[in-house]
Amino acid sequence: MQCTHKNIKTKKVSKEIFDMTFEAFTSICNDCGAILRDSAYERKYMHWLEEIYKTRRDKFQTQCHFSKNIIRCAETYLIDYPGISPTVFMRALVTIYFNVIDRDEKKSTRLESLLDHEILKSFTNDKDRKKVNIQFKPNMMIELVAVSEFLEMSTSAVVEEVVVKLMTVITSHDQKLREYWENEIRGYLDMFLKAA
Ligand SMILES: [Zn+2]
Repeated sequence: MQCTHKNIKTKKVSKEIFDMTFEAFTSICNDCGAILRDSAYERKYMHWLEEIYKTRRDKFQTQCHFSKNIIRCAETYLIDYPGISPTVFMRALVTIYFNVIDRDEKKSTRLESLLDHEILKSFTNDKDRKKVNIQFKPNMMIELVAVSEFLEMSTSAVVEEVVVKLMTVITSHDQKLREYWENEIRGYLDMFLKAA
């Protein structure tokens, strides 16, 4: 039978993230040991992250390597968005992917079915690569950490995969992928880049 967490006590718990330790009191179930992170705990955690964000931006960066072809495609796309750098653009793509596509099973399944895996592979296997550091906001970064722990991949690998996927959509001449781009991504991207 599943525990209903009726027998609660308050205990200090710690969490390791970015090679640092966050510690705070929260509710713990005495019976099953589940950590019931309440809103006070979540607020403290976000506050702690915001403070680290102020002084240790490097902790919120992913060091990626992209095919120079991908970077060139990004630069070409950004001709219509003066002042936006490819790294800001890539951050936008990743944020949109996790907030719009990945959360919606219909959208993510459709994307997977439309993607041209040959083009995807050509971007992924390209040896001519350049290092790109992408900076994320605290809440996006903790989501990335959670996803990468779940997938047992590094955060950089997760970011690389998402960027390559969406760049494949952008550069595609396939009618259905073009429509997917226009209907599902374009509006969010314009909004994001205008705010950047
Ligand atoms: Zn319990």
